[in-house]
Amino acid sequence: MARRSQAVSRSLGHVLPVFTAAAGGGVLVDVDGNSFIDFASGIAVTSVGNAAPAVVSAMAAQASLFTHTCFLVTPYEGYVEVCERLNALTPGDHEKRSILLNSGAEAVENAVKIARVHTGRDAVVVFDHAYHGRTNLTMAMTAKHKPYKHGFGPFASEVYRVPMSYPFREPLSGTDAAHRAIDVIQAQVDASNVACVVLEPIQGEGGFVVPAPGFLPAIADWCRANGVVFVADEVQTGFCRTGDWFASEHESVVPDLVVTAKGMAGGLPLGGVTGRAEIMDAVHAGGLGGTFSGNPIACAAALGAIQTMIDLNLPASARHIGDTMLPRLRALQSRVPAIGDVRGRGAMVAIELVRSGTLEPDAALAAAVSKACHAEGLLTLTAGTYNNVLRFLPPLVIPDALLDEGLSILESALQS
Ligand SMILES: *Cc1c(COP(=O)(O)O)cnc(C)c1O
Repeated sequence: MARRSQAVSRSLGHVLPVFTAAAGGGVLVDVDGNSFIDFASGIAVTSVGNAAPAVVSAMAAQASLFTHTCFLVTPYEGYVEVCERLNALTPGDHEKRSILLNSGAEAVENAVKIARVHTGRDAVVVFDHAYHGRTNLTMAMTAKHKPYKHGFGPFASEVYRVPMSYPFREPLSGTDAAHRAIDVIQAQVDASNVACVVLEPIQGEGGFVVPAPGFLPAIADWCRANGVVFVADEVQTGFCRTGDWFASEHESVVPDLVVTAKGMAGGLPLGGVTGRAEIMDAVHAGGLGGTFSGNPIACAAALGAIQTMIDLNLPASARHIGDTMLPRLRALQSRVPAIGDVRGRGAMVAIELVRSGTLEPDAALAAAVSKACHAEGLLTLTAGTYNNVLRFLPPLVIPDALLDEGLSILESALQS
């Protein structure tokens, strides 16, 4: 830690002040030999487990052949194969194309670039509580000011924010919430100027906000009727996390573009944009890319991770995790009045803490419960615009016994 503070900028926070020695099977071990049950997965990344065997062997094989050529210099098969997988697995059976990037934020930026070229329009519509990354354009698209935007402006222009559907805080139906958002777009931007609407099917950093049923389909329908590209930011929800391959599938929504990253490559940095061939191919040749984008080892890792998701049926595992966690946390809610809401889908579960009987966020309580969990060996994360959400993202391969043990730690932390 002393070396860290001497060598590494203090701008980088950490959830837990321990150094990792090894991780796998739903457990993190630190250099002092402490073990932590992992309800974080490196922020929804190691869905297939840490150092998953198929990921490790695919990476090792690729590393011994070549580590880099740049896909823009001489292509390689792994990149193409990941794109084929993305095209096949994302919602909709229309003809698709993909590109690969280094991160979620870079993928979101590329989706916006593609939508702008395709439509010839400038405006980007995003939602309250949204998180899309930390680059200049994605900071503008992210809602929360501190810590993501504070002092980092000026921000990119032509980004417009509209109200979200947040059932716990406002009991609006999904279609009513969608109409409210659409009215704001019409009044403040006008559909004819909108290149794309970018929406997380379940918001991640914003606090695992699950929009009311009907919200997503109504927004997607409005986009289709107005020539607006509907972009699903599935960076956190994608790749089996919510119990489907992609969270959009839950309401049979077929996005024009799907943005992926986090869980896709078993821990290696890889992002993607996948979508309708005519939209993806609208960009002039040479318009997109990057030196490292779609690195061959990251592609090998993704192919190993995706094969693991198929072989182990990880969408079913995610549903099983949700079916285990949600009822236990809901039962606890009746005994702990500070639990205002229990929500989520599959292995993307959260509780929102409030002052009992009100909607007033209790960030201090969320911090205290996290601390108590950490002290008992359970790694949890917080989230939310008001910092009052505890979120749980176990690896999808977590054994039942560990999931139960983690939940018991959480229950006693909340009760005390
Ligand atoms: C994490 C995240 C991003 C940004 O991904 P990075 O790889 O951190 O750049 C974008 N969108 C969503 C929904 C995310 O959860």
